[in-house]
Amino acid sequence: MIYADNAATTRISELAVQKLLPYLMEEYGNASSQHKLGFKARKAIACARKQVAKAIDCEPHEIIFTSGGSEGNTWVLHGKSRELCERERAHLITTSIEHHSVLNACKNTDVLDVTYLNPDSDGRVSVSNVESALRPNTKLVTIMFANNEIGTIQPVQQIGEMLKSHNVMFHTDAVQAVGHIPISMKKLKVDFLTASAHKFNGPKGIGFIFIRDGIAMPNYIFGGEQEFGLRSGTENVAGIVALGYALEECVQNLGEDTITQQLLVKMTIEKLKKSIPNLIINAELANRLPGILNITFENATGEAMMHLLSLKDICVSAGAACNSNKGVPSHVLLAIGKTESEAKNSIRISYGRYNTVKEVDEITSAIKSAYFKITQAKST
Ligand SMILES: *Cc1c(COP(=O)(O)O)cnc(C)c1O
Repeated sequence: MIYADNAATTRISELAVQKLLPYLMEEYGNASSQHKLGFKARKAIACARKQVAKAIDCEPHEIIFTSGGSEGNTWVLHGKSRELCERERAHLITTSIEHHSVLNACKNTDVLDVTYLNPDSDGRVSVSNVESALRPNTKLVTIMFANNEIGTIQPVQQIGEMLKSHNVMFHTDAVQAVGHIPISMKKLKVDFLTASAHKFNGPKGIGFIFIRDGIAMPNYIFGGEQEFGLRSGTENVAGIVALGYALEECVQNLGEDTITQQLLVKMTIEKLKKSIPNLIINAELANRLPGILNITFENATGEAMMHLLSLKDICVSAGAACNSNKGVPSHVLLAIGKTESEAKNSIRISYGRYNTVKEVDEITSAIKSAYFKITQAKST
């Protein structure tokens, strides 16, 4: 099996599994218990919190563990924004290329006015785009750090600095960025940041949000007051431990993994451009995540392509995992100006730590033969 769908999820690292297992089998205590097993679980969570804080350059108490990216985004966009609307109707700015956890949270709120900014043809949102959308009652801006379909990295640092000068809060969905590009919360003027372990070689169903010191966040899940009283529920100790080690490992390997993935992407582009006519590399000019490559074909749908590749045990994606089974064209590709048919004729290849140069050869030759199979079937 060749797995090139790492933007959908990643394989858990061996280290993370090794660190996770004891917390299921032997150290299975409830972190709130006052006996030895409870103490050990508490200690393990504290250790993971420190690992995360070190990885993104913040303080441990600024990290709250959640069930993943969708929860973190929903918490900020429903929990926090509801609080921001208590005195007056608030305005929120986001982009039209966010993950559906952000877009649907924005859609399903009746207390906010929402502006959806359109990016340029490479998926970039500029500081001046955001600044000119500000209104007197703008309370919160949410812009993803890096896009999960085309890989475009946004100017989060500059947007944050501008928003600070206007006293507007800033949240970023950094699910694709954390563990993949360097992030320092001490440098970024970001108030809230969302991350998810299964996108950085950790387990599924666990993630965290960063909440900057001194910024109030309403309680979202009620119960036993875990996670500083903000997010109740018995902690997923094994998941938290694995998340800590997975992120530490990603940050340690960041330089090397970036170079490798950029090389794999570059090789893939070169090989495909040589053999397939009129191929379009989406967001080609943008500063992109190292491993994500989104391409549009002339006359072959992404879905047909994906299925033919899947028959050869190659996993790529036609759009984001959550859309690709609905046959709707990607909202991200439409937002960067692709036509409906161009958007449908696209696939995403996303490389991760375990991909190799040899796999690029196999993927590109499989894409080439799938492409000619589809286009020849059409022309006869
Ligand atoms: C995967 C993803 C999410 C959702 O994270 P889950 O942990 O799967 O809920 C949110 N935002 C982006 C950009 C993602 O890629």
